[in-house]
Amino acid sequence: MEEFKIGLCPYCGMGCRFYIKTLNGQPIGIEPYPGGVNEGKLCPKGVAAVDFLRHKDRLKKPLKRTENGLVEINWEQAIKEIAEKLLEIREKYGPDTLGFFSSARCSNEENYLLQKIARLLGTNNVDHCARLCHASTVVGLAQTVGAAAQSGSYTDIPKAKVLLIWGYNPSETHPVLMRYILRARDNGAKIIVVDPRKTGTVWFADMHLQLKPGTDIVLANAMMHVIIEERLYDREFIMNRTKGFEKLIAVVQKYTPEYAEEITGVPAKLIRESAITFATAGRGIVMWAMGLTQHVTGAANVKVLADLALICGYVGREGTGLFPMRGQNNVQGACDMAALPNVFPGYQKVTDDEKRKYMAEIWGVEDLSSKPGLTIPEMIDAAAKGELKALYIMGENPVMSDPNTKHVIEALKNLELLVVQDIFLTETAELAHYVLPAAAYAEKEGSFTASERRVQWNFKAIEPPGEAKPDWEILTMLGKALGLPKFDYSDVEDITREITLVAPQYRGITPDRLKREVMGVQWPCPSEDHSGTPRLHVERFATPDGKANIIPVEFKPPAEEPDEEYPFILTTFRIVGQYHTLTMSNRSESLKKRWSSPYAQISPKDAEKLGIQDGEVIRIVTRRGSYTCRAVVTEDVSEGVIAVPWHWGANILTNDVLDPEAKIPELKVAACRVEKIGGC
Ligand code: SF4
Repeated sequence: MEEFKIGLCPYCGMGCRFYIKTLNGQPIGIEPYPGGVNEGKLCPKGVAAVDFLRHKDRLKKPLKRTENGLVEINWEQAIKEIAEKLLEIREKYGPDTLGFFSSARCSNEENYLLQKIARLLGTNNVDHCARLCHASTVVGLAQTVGAAAQSGSYTDIPKAKVLLIWGYNPSETHPVLMRYILRARDNGAKIIVVDPRKTGTVWFADMHLQLKPGTDIVLANAMMHVIIEERLYDREFIMNRTKGFEKLIAVVQKYTPEYAEEITGVPAKLIRESAITFATAGRGIVMWAMGLTQHVTGAANVKVLADLALICGYVGREGTGLFPMRGQNNVQGACDMAALPNVFPGYQKVTDDEKRKYMAEIWGVEDLSSKPGLTIPEMIDAAAKGELKALYIMGENPVMSDPNTKHVIEALKNLELLVVQDIFLTETAELAHYVLPAAAYAEKEGSFTASERRVQWNFKAIEPPGEAKPDWEILTMLGKALGLPKFDYSDVEDITREITLVAPQYRGITPDRLKREVMGVQWPCPSEDHSGTPRLHVERFATPDGKANIIPVEFKPPAEEPDEEYPFILTTFRIVGQYHTLTMSNRSESLKKRWSSPYAQISPKDAEKLGIQDGEVIRIVTRRGSYTCRAVVTEDVSEGVIAVPWHWGANILTNDVLDPEAKIPELKVAACRVEKIGGC
């Protein structure tokens, strides 16, 4: 029998809805769903979202490492042994030798449960891949406006008169959002793109500021220098709703457009023109993604962009806002659920005695650890040093996603216990002692939170293959086997209801409501009869005194700069037809066929100097490793810059140096050299 079930795209953080078409219980295709934020439209990944579900590589049974490699075992044995080993390690070395990687591809309920397990075992060592993408946003926005989330809604975009798109290429990473951006342009908005590459988004821009990678602070400060010099700032907004403007004036004084041109490579005239266009538009939105955040100054980069929006009064009104765009379908939710080492659900600090007492009471224990835990890169380092003994990874693939691949592999091999819970045998799962087969998005229920804080219900369409189980069910089994209190969930909705008790932003977002209101609800939603919040910071900011903090920042150069041995700047990017570490997208024949292999962009001048022809094979070398791919000779990158899509394992090259505040690695800048191999 043919059926259509409402689905939710498992790829990016846009939150697109579609119908999953099934025949006799098997997925056979995706059909447009007329409603939803995507207005019935999908990008190539969304169209291909059922392709990997019945792929032959799906994990169907729990696996255990033996001398004969990974062999199948039953669920009972797997959960019992994992629980025993976790308890044994905790007993022998202490709770902080355990670590947990949660996942922005899992539901809110699943993220909630994994962090609950970690905390009930006595450690705050829990984190997820937002550490590698928007940890800087979480820190930067928390310090400036008090809420680590997109301030407005997608529907604000067409109402803006200027869009400042910084380190972000929606044409490839959130293609459906481009519809909103183009609508803004049709309505007369100016589009300013800041990016070291000429991306697809640049085709639609009025101005492209092609800065040298890692010089964002200089450029933003120079724009503010012009806005202040020309007195184009919003005096009333600054006076009534912010603090710190005077300090900003002092700091940006030296960042003249001419000075910025020398460092960023962007012509002073263009800096001046873009600053004036931005400040005089009246309604503006600042959008950003990894190009801004994945730097050793990631948190400072976010603060400086927030400053830019604040001095123009572009927050809390229609057609304005701060828009960090999320890469995975539940990055926002995983952060909200506290798959983070320093907070409980709803961003309540683990160091706050009152909050900790409340959480302990809800979870049925005496007390919880007040010591902030380790981040993902810190857990990897601790494992390498033998200080972390066990790591439980749900739906992440750090071997491919984290910087400095060799170091990650060495660290994981050093663990006494590595458990991986996933839908495929990823490069990380191949190293595990136990592998647990998880259900994919269409095979389970739960809630997911898109970029604009929109919480939507994910309906089950088909059964999981073999013995695969939803992550929440696996974690419930594990919680019980560990003897943890309050793990008697009979279904996923029990967990959603518990979330309404602990995360204040989700108070009125019950499972019944989400099932009824399929377009979802935007948090904060304080009660069941509240309609949700499309726009934050309307009257006051989420800071203790209600005022936004303008925080000036000084420029610090990237950790690695070109030198004689490594004369180029390496940067990384994403492409529309592949997704993250290829686990899902590369198992779609249609996507794989069209977006098939790795490449590197190199400027015509650099290619000529090195004698490299378009399409020839090259080797890129950094201090951490080497990577072979084909060269694409293009004007899209400036002289001195090499750009690679990171999906095919380019993290062998990237730098694992961390932003001291956000602990995000500097994935966007490394020094490299290029060697010609030749051939095609
Ligand atoms: Fe899926 Fe994102 Fe594409 Fe929408 S834009 S279909 S959510 S990948």
